[in-house]
Amino acid sequence: METVIIAPLPDTNVAETAVNDLLPQLRRAFIGLDTRYPLADGSTRRRIYLDSSASTLMMEPAYEAARHYLGHYANTHTTVHTAAKITAHTMRWASDTTLKFLGADPQHYLATFLGSGATAAANRAAAGLAQLRPERDVVLISSMEHHSNDLPHRRHSKTVEHIPLQGGGPHPGTVDLDALSALLHKHAGRVNYVAITGVSNVTGIINPLKEIAALAHQHDAYLLVDGAQMSAHAPANLSANDIDLYLFSGHKVYAPGSPGVLVARRALIDAMSPHEVGGGMVAAVSKWGYDLAESADEREQAGTPNILGTITLACALESLQRADMVRIFDEERTLLRWARDQLRQCPNLTLYGDEDQHDRVGAIAFNLDGIGHGLVAAILNDYHAIAVRNECFCAHPYVQEMLSEEFAEIDIDGLDNDAVNRLFQDRRGMVRASFGLYTCREDITALVNALKDIETNIEHYRPHYRACPDGRYEHLSFRPDPATLFDIEETLARQLDALRTSAQR
Ligand code: PMP
Repeated sequence: METVIIAPLPDTNVAETAVNDLLPQLRRAFIGLDTRYPLADGSTRRRIYLDSSASTLMMEPAYEAARHYLGHYANTHTTVHTAAKITAHTMRWASDTTLKFLGADPQHYLATFLGSGATAAANRAAAGLAQLRPERDVVLISSMEHHSNDLPHRRHSKTVEHIPLQGGGPHPGTVDLDALSALLHKHAGRVNYVAITGVSNVTGIINPLKEIAALAHQHDAYLLVDGAQMSAHAPANLSANDIDLYLFSGHKVYAPGSPGVLVARRALIDAMSPHEVGGGMVAAVSKWGYDLAESADEREQAGTPNILGTITLACALESLQRADMVRIFDEERTLLRWARDQLRQCPNLTLYGDEDQHDRVGAIAFNLDGIGHGLVAAILNDYHAIAVRNECFCAHPYVQEMLSEEFAEIDIDGLDNDAVNRLFQDRRGMVRASFGLYTCREDITALVNALKDIETNIEHYRPHYRACPDGRYEHLSFRPDPATLFDIEETLARQLDALRTSAQR
């Protein structure tokens, strides 16, 4: 595997793959694929989940394997009894599996599990790197970053500059390498690190990490890769040792409830002070002081880790690897290309991101002309049971840049303040449909048909909605109470009742 495989697209049809392969079976092994919801027209339909960039569904075999582990659950901070030994062994497996998934040599890299997502890992990395080289006070990030790979660097470093993208307007491409090179020269000797997303969470565009790594390292800057949108979709590979830090989220890799992950060069982590202090990361403590544990694996783990989440995540990663990440990537690109072709059949639809950029994964950002993104997303949910995301996806600068030409064309002469605000709110965002391993052509066809229906019948839908001040659209009469669809207390009560019944038998 390369850092990112950018191979020619094969002409494979997902449906033609052999039935005894793991991948086709795995695509169907997710919890929630058959969930049904009521619709505003009184019918009930299977929910189509096209919001995987936000969070993916739970991979069932990973969940089941982790559930079996619970038979041996214990804390990690002891190895005196057998369950604790099994837990320590399983956690070591989880860490090794995570490194293996990324092709990271355990001699050079350390995986730490922290917080509830990639954001925790980005904050840890930003604080640690700033402390490591305070004299290098500049960080370069791209203009397509999620706020989680932007704000932590702003907080901990004096200067953060955004690297421009190739192209512009509604169709920007990848990070502009010439611009990156120019910035590295401009701030020669001051750039601590370059922080770049592997894959955009808005357009799915993949950045040329190898080239970025080479440029950063020429200037003695580290490379931090935000792999939150990459890990489940494209093979990331740290075996060439050209990525210094890589972070991602378990909840975007089919393991809800799992922690964020920071994989970093051991040499870097060894040189950083531990992020948190407490039990489990010290060798000795007296009233007057304490000695840190010798090994970074222990030093970076203050307190009891998210054991179950870490193990579930590693099970998901191992499953993906066994199903073959290269093939997962190729098949997703084939599906994406097909989906974009289908979406182009909607006459008034704008697709964002460089049209010629084939190195991208399944996240599609779009708008329907003259219909607010909030209204489109609401109708997709209420009348078509299609879950998508809308607005700016925590990537405001990127989305604003793609929409800037549209804003320039808006004629606001003669409109009052409220009308102007509404006009901008409706246009200050996009709709995003994003894929998971379970996404199929049927889902895309349903989306395309729904969008065609919305375009044709928008004047029928509009009177059913109220625009809320926060930009959401609310149906006037269809507001199913979430508690009637799923009630955790009632679900628990049923479990407890079953327990009582079985005890009485
Ligand atoms: N980076 C990217 C590219 C993302 O898409 C996200 C989540 N949408 C994050 C970072 C933050 O991840 P988390 O919510 O797991 O902290």
